[in-house]
Amino acid sequence: MTKPSRRRRFLLSAASFLFGLLTLLIVLVGGVWWLLAHPNTPVPPYWNPLRELTVTAPVTPVTTYQLNRALADDVMCRAALAEAGVQFEPMEDLVVEENCGIAGRGRLTNLVKARIAAIETRCATTLRLAMWEHHVVQPAAEKVLGTAVSRLRQIGSYNCRRMRTAQGQDNGWSSHATADAIDIVGLDLSDGRSLNLLSDWGTDGPEADFLRQIGRGACDWFRVVLGPDYNRLHADHFHLQGPGWGYCR
Ligand SMILES: [Zn+2]
Repeated sequence: MTKPSRRRRFLLSAASFLFGLLTLLIVLVGGVWWLLAHPNTPVPPYWNPLRELTVTAPVTPVTTYQLNRALADDVMCRAALAEAGVQFEPMEDLVVEENCGIAGRGRLTNLVKARIAAIETRCATTLRLAMWEHHVVQPAAEKVLGTAVSRLRQIGSYNCRRMRTAQGQDNGWSSHATADAIDIVGLDLSDGRSLNLLSDWGTDGPEADFLRQIGRGACDWFRVVLGPDYNRLHADHFHLQGPGWGYCR
């Protein structure tokens, strides 16, 4: 008689312990949710996964999550750009054929601070470019060159074509066929200097350091980044591509 009742007592106390633990968990999760969802939450928006991305806010572990949501939602994407002062005039989607076109299309003329020659591209590509400009390019220019970047020089985003390789044409479609990439050849600085990847990449000095830093830093905001060290097709530009396999050279 004693053995089963001891076991029963043990099972009962184990069950009540688990029940207590579960209640505590529910209260904790509910509390955190309430704290994040409350309109007057003390949690800063850039630490709050329920809030939308602010391009110019500090980068936290939550930023990538907020960015991915904005990249997947055109309304959120355009709102984030507008709030950061990026001039991205909405246009109707470009539908060409199965492999070519621009979804979330717009005309970009101005990033957060730097200008850029008017270009038609996707909102997602623009948002990544704005994150790169604000969190990598401008801080690196300030730190390494003691000035700001006044203009990014691009040579195209949308181009309905297949991939090019050093050996010739490849079979797959280029990310340019959907404006998921943009090519940057150089930058103008506020102090009047002008940098070109083709002539400044291989030199010694702060200009080359700066170009290498922003090339590496582009990998934080684009999944594929190819530059002069990759192959001769990229000797004069950074190929900055949103979707892809995390390839950075
Ligand atoms: Zn490219």
